[in-house]
Amino acid sequence: TDQKLRDLLISRITDVPDYPKPGVMFKDITPLLADAGAFTALTDALAALCERYRADKVVGLEARGFILAAPVAVRAGVGFVPVRKAGKLPGATLSQAYELEYGTAEIEIHAEALGVGERVLVIDDVLATGGTAEASLKLIRRAGAQVAGVAVLMELGFLNGRERLESVLDGAPLDALIQV
Ligand code: AMP
Repeated sequence: TDQKLRDLLISRITDVPDYPKPGVMFKDITPLLADAGAFTALTDALAALCERYRADKVVGLEARGFILAAPVAVRAGVGFVPVRKAGKLPGATLSQAYELEYGTAEIEIHAEALGVGERVLVIDDVLATGGTAEASLKLIRRAGAQVAGVAVLMELGFLNGRERLESVLDGAPLDALIQV
């Protein structure tokens, strides 16, 4: 990513302290989404990764990953598949539980959404602890598809999500347009 793009993207992400709870610095991407130039530049950068990694599908992670991944799919000429919180998908699903700071969460994918051997690029807004992305990669593999890569707008380096993902990435690239 070039510096001009990074500066544009960073300038459109707002830090919200103590949201949704004390001690968390929330990265609010809504100003970026509201700026046509910045949203288009972001979409183009992610679509370029899609092409570089020869992805057949993009998977967006609920909820902000949907907003980023859907225009990327259209721009890159590939399909979009949602990974959702448990209980939201109407068809037969595969589920994956993962650890949160307190308790566990569960995400799902439609069991038939990905073709066997299909190459998938996973897209989300923020990589924090990596728990969500890790569970998503497990789902994609269980669905019979291949992980072409993971792309996020912003990586929070101090939470070590990259290390957590290393083994499940199994050599696939993890791209963050911005690292903080
Ligand atoms: P994690 O599973 O810890 O990597 O958390 C990733 C998910 O939580 C992503 O889908 C993000 O949208 C969201 N998230 C975690 N931390 C933040 C943060 N500081 N600001 C905005 N979103 C966050």
